[in-house]
Amino acid sequence: MKKILVLGSTGSIGLNTLEIARSFQNKFKIVGLTSNNNISLLEKQIEEFHPEAVVVVNKEKAAELKTKVAGKCAVLSGEEGLLEITRRGNYDILVSALVGFAGLAPTIEAIKQKKRIALANKETLVTAGEIIIGLCKEYGAELIPVDSEHSAIFQSLIGEKKETINKLILTASGGPFLNKDKTELEHVTIAEALKHPNWKMGNKITIDSATMMNKGLEIIEAFWLFGLPKEKIEVVIHPQSIIHSMVEFIDGSIKAQMSSPDMKLPILYALTFPERYNFSSVKTDFARINKLTFFEPDFDKFTCLKMAYHAIEEGGTAPCILNAANEVAVEKFLSGKIRFTQIPELITDALEKIVCHKKADMPAGEAGLDLIFESDFKTREYLTKKHS
Ligand code: MG
Repeated sequence: MKKILVLGSTGSIGLNTLEIARSFQNKFKIVGLTSNNNISLLEKQIEEFHPEAVVVVNKEKAAELKTKVAGKCAVLSGEEGLLEITRRGNYDILVSALVGFAGLAPTIEAIKQKKRIALANKETLVTAGEIIIGLCKEYGAELIPVDSEHSAIFQSLIGEKKETINKLILTASGGPFLNKDKTELEHVTIAEALKHPNWKMGNKITIDSATMMNKGLEIIEAFWLFGLPKEKIEVVIHPQSIIHSMVEFIDGSIKAQMSSPDMKLPILYALTFPERYNFSSVKTDFARINKLTFFEPDFDKFTCLKMAYHAIEEGGTAPCILNAANEVAVEKFLSGKIRFTQIPELITDALEKIVCHKKADMPAGEAGLDLIFESDFKTREYLTKKHS
């Protein structure tokens, strides 16, 4: 029986994880759950899964839940609650599925507890990739990707040697605006941007898919996860989202991992690796899919892709600034304060104005985290003031 702590249990990845736990009740025991403020759903999850402890980040909501579930489980609160529940260590696997930079600090706590991390929070690697990879080695923690593209590459690399990799090919659906031209993007609405053609996900990542910043962040995530130069990481548009990503080897052979798009598969694999469990809820019928198509991404229309490669080249805290600016910009777009096309503009602005700490100027290892947190804070402060 594997004990699982789910950070972000009321979000899309969290709900899929709990569905898996429901399907394998003799294999997985949920010991902890967390939510920012959705206490009505969290209360239902407590009734069903009987965790030892939960966290509600919003302190008022935490107090409210505490009176409702008194005696059933411990209720912690705030960001310190997230750190405490990961530090308690009474779990085997952390499903790290918080949204954005908030996932970094608790994920580090789990690494220090030497746990398996099923990583859905790509921002952890985007903002502090080198430190995270270093800490995983130092503490002997296992990092298994949940992001479908990275899970596909991870699975394709089993039994292969790193030096035989020619390139990684990340597939991208292209999002809802794949067939709109650049000028049409000026006028797209929030509702249009939230209509992803293939994946049902949370709002933040759905907007990231529409700008293709999601793929940009995934390029950076792959860079750290697989330790390859950025020139060996390519993006191809594949609107059907059946091939989740591919690896090309030096002999020209290519391995791909495929299935109908359903996050339960990469989550399940991250929980069971190196085993595979008998699971029949996701079916892939090639006769019905009919065709798989591919084409090159339009870097002029989706400038966020270019920015991601550039951030890798800059190194240091550049990816952290990129990520923080993106989080602020997406929030502003979702609250109607800026237009869709202003998202990349805000990010460019932050990358130009916020001081980027170069890798050579950063203290090695965990000590470098201070500058990561500082860059994140300064970027948010700058864009929030400027575009309030
Ligand atoms: Mg993905």
